[in-house]
Amino acid sequence: MRAVTVIPGVPGSLRLLDDYPEPPTEEGSILVEAVAVGICGTDLEIIEGQYGEAPPGTDHLVIGHESLGRVIEDPTGTLQPGDLVAGIVRHPDPLPCPNCAVGEWDMCRNGMFTEHGIKALPGFARQRWRLQPRFAVGLDPTLDEVGVLLEPTSVVVKAWDHIDRIGRRAEWQPRTALITGAGPIGLLAALLASQRGLSVHVLDLATEGPKPELAGALGATYHSGPLDQLDFEPDVIVECTGAPVVVLEAMCRVAPTGIVCLAGVSSGGRIIDFDAGALNRTLVLENNVVFGSVNANRRHWDAAAEALSRADRSWLGSLITRRVPLSEYASAYSPGPQDIKVVIDFTV
Ligand SMILES: [Zn+2]
Repeated sequence: MRAVTVIPGVPGSLRLLDDYPEPPTEEGSILVEAVAVGICGTDLEIIEGQYGEAPPGTDHLVIGHESLGRVIEDPTGTLQPGDLVAGIVRHPDPLPCPNCAVGEWDMCRNGMFTEHGIKALPGFARQRWRLQPRFAVGLDPTLDEVGVLLEPTSVVVKAWDHIDRIGRRAEWQPRTALITGAGPIGLLAALLASQRGLSVHVLDLATEGPKPELAGALGATYHSGPLDQLDFEPDVIVECTGAPVVVLEAMCRVAPTGIVCLAGVSSGGRIIDFDAGALNRTLVLENNVVFGSVNANRRHWDAAAEALSRADRSWLGSLITRRVPLSEYASAYSPGPQDIKVVIDFTV
């Protein structure tokens, strides 16, 4: 079968193989036919050779961690043939650490977890794959065009789950949320904020293209100026740019008792002249919290499937700015300036 692979650590090794082996039954009892695979910055880093690990005993890693497929067969009866399904990316470490031991593998403490398409497990950019029932998430059948957004949605569900948990340290009635960055993660974070009834603000550099419109369609206020010129202090900030200046301004700008969730990864290496003492003073005197969030566990994936099923299908569809057939896979990994989410379509 066909599969998109890289040799981890070797830049430019992205290939479409025609003779990749069928998924072995040890991978899981549920056999799935691929529908689509979404592409994100992690894939581009793997292709550049910065990241990624092949499964033990092999050189090639099948890429792709944002999945959507249709069940071919499930002898366990968990899902029915034809059901839409996505695969949970991370598997718990074998030790396991205290968090993995209770299913909170998104909080793995020893780094020995594995991840489909990233770390030691084959990804989903292949025509067929298999899942164990506990890593298979069923989706509403009407999500066939947009269900590939489940993985990035699970990431923002986890972020909001932890915002809630931190908020419960005291009386917590947030009213305003600012999302910095209107990429797929930022817009999905804004979707969840709007589903929670918050007054939503989205900040991004883009002044044209689909981002302002997509934020507006959620009822969010769109800002394209500097964060330090906002005329309000958000109760919650979900930072999705990873841009160092925006990260620092978010920490300084949040309302008293506010929460800043850092969900964007910085590349590092950029030095900024910054008054760390003033930031410390603000965080302490205002009881503010800044925390990082990545990945998601089963609870978040199930809640993400629920959140997507409640969302407007055409709005979700607008996040997918390009659908590329598998035969033209390489172009999917060269996002254009107007792209939000690019997917490889396995059905054409
Ligand atoms: Zn662990």
